[in-house]
Amino acid sequence: MSEAVLAAIGLGSNLSNPAEQVRKALHALGSAIAQTRLIKASSLYVSKPQGPADQPDYVNACALVETHLSAEQLLQQLQRLETLQGKIKYRHWGERVIDLDLLLYGEAVIDLPHLQVPHPWMTRRDFVLKPLAEIAPHLTIPGVGRVIEALQALDETYLYENERPL
Ligand code: ADP
Ligand code: MG
Repeated sequence: MSEAVLAAIGLGSNLSNPAEQVRKALHALGSAIAQTRLIKASSLYVSKPQGPADQPDYVNACALVETHLSAEQLLQQLQRLETLQGKIKYRHWGERVIDLDLLLYGEAVIDLPHLQVPHPWMTRRDFVLKPLAEIAPHLTIPGVGRVIEALQALDETYLYENERPL
């Protein structure tokens, strides 16, 4: 079996009881993906939408998993869980029942048409970096630095009161 890799997943939802959707997905990350186990899950945070403003607020969280899957296999599994949970794409950066993004895969840098790691937007989003800093402040974002440093360098905020765990 291939060596275990620590991967970071970003979760978001703003439809159909978002907090429940995020909790359900966190549970699935720890129980429904082969060769993968949940190491840590952050608290839930409430944020304003990025993109179209005429949509509900989001609930966000991050998780760390240890996996023997490749990054592409893990992405496929995340997309399978999204579909199982009823994700439908309405519009770019629009409302969704669940969004599961592969933020980090060890210290790999991947630039494929369907998969970019580190997730290209993660360093501009406090609703990603704040929950990730809660569970893994010293994790390295390749080409950027540590999670906590990236969070401190941010000037934009989407989180309510800059921090509102549920
Ligand atoms: P949105 O950009 O609105 O979040 P989706 O969540 O539906 O839209 O994702 C769109 C596409 O992003 C997916 O088809 C996927 O192939 C691509 N993608 C590229 N890199 C990543 C990544 N690191 N994690 C998740 N999806 C990614
Ligand atoms: Mg996505």
